[in-house]
Amino acid sequence: MEQMTGSTADRIEALRKKYGKDLVILGHHYQLDEVVQHVDIVGDSLELARRIPEIEARNIVFCGVYFMAESACLLARPGQKIFLPDHSADCAMARMAKAADVEKVLEKLSATGRKIVPLAYVNSSLAVKAVVGRFGGAVCTSSNAKVMLEWAFSQGDAVLFLPDRNLGRNTANALGIPAEQQVEIDAAGTMLDSDEVKNARLLLWPGCCPIHERLMKPEMVDEFHKHFPGCRVLVHPECTPDVVGRCDGAGSTAFLIKEAEKAAEAALEPALCIGTEFHLVHRLMERYADRINIIPLAQATCPDMEKVDAASLLATLEQLEQGVNEVTVEEALKAPARDSLVRMLENCR
Ligand code: SF4
Repeated sequence: MEQMTGSTADRIEALRKKYGKDLVILGHHYQLDEVVQHVDIVGDSLELARRIPEIEARNIVFCGVYFMAESACLLARPGQKIFLPDHSADCAMARMAKAADVEKVLEKLSATGRKIVPLAYVNSSLAVKAVVGRFGGAVCTSSNAKVMLEWAFSQGDAVLFLPDRNLGRNTANALGIPAEQQVEIDAAGTMLDSDEVKNARLLLWPGCCPIHERLMKPEMVDEFHKHFPGCRVLVHPECTPDVVGRCDGAGSTAFLIKEAEKAAEAALEPALCIGTEFHLVHRLMERYADRINIIPLAQATCPDMEKVDAASLLATLEQLEQGVNEVTVEEALKAPARDSLVRMLENCR
């Protein structure tokens, strides 16, 4: 490859120009600004997954975390290549559910004769999605968790929601499922014989997003309400039910962005507090600074989402033809994992 000079940003732009229609760069809203400025499509997990089938480019560079690139592999056309600029960009929540554990728990639960339908948040490994697909379950995102949880209830006697206990509980609460019908299990499946589990409609995997669970606290919501009476706090449903219960609304990344835009347009409230990953909130703060005071609930950044940076994006583009940083998925996992994803896309057209 011819040696290029100039800033990292200039070199990335020069390579984008060089590859032209052979390259599309996707980026999650939580990515660094130095990355987002180069992406063709920015979105949350659902938006990005929906866009993949329409992409014709031979090379798709996914700026996000590993499970997102794996899902992109499933939805890509034959011959298309998916790249992730840093393969160590994983998701702490996804790591909390191991495919072997999920399979063992589902086998034990199914042995009781009850039909347990697994519903996996998209923030899970491809191997977990394959297990879920084999057990007749589906994937969901924070945008469609309500629709998919209703679907899962209609398919069997009970639902195993994984890996995020908070999204599971918050969604069940929104659907009016009583707390006593929601039971958190352990990943080793040691308490599955209890009456509590046998009678539950919703079984929750003991996983969470450390960024939303540990860094966003109920007292922070109270503090904001005290300083800005009448102003709203909106959070992502990966926050604990304690936090969500005190807020004025909870929803997906797409919902939070839309609400910030509407609040800026209406200019009715002096401040709006948003509880989700800080890079996104900071971008909204800057975008609407002249119209509304957007305040982060916490300065919570995701270290995994920060792993892809402009330097790793540039290195990937420079070595695209050598296949460096390409993501591939095990052939045997593709069909069952795709089944779980397709069930979501078909139910949420
Ligand atoms: S913010 Fe949480 S859920 Fe999202 S990638 Fe980071 S650890 Fe995973």
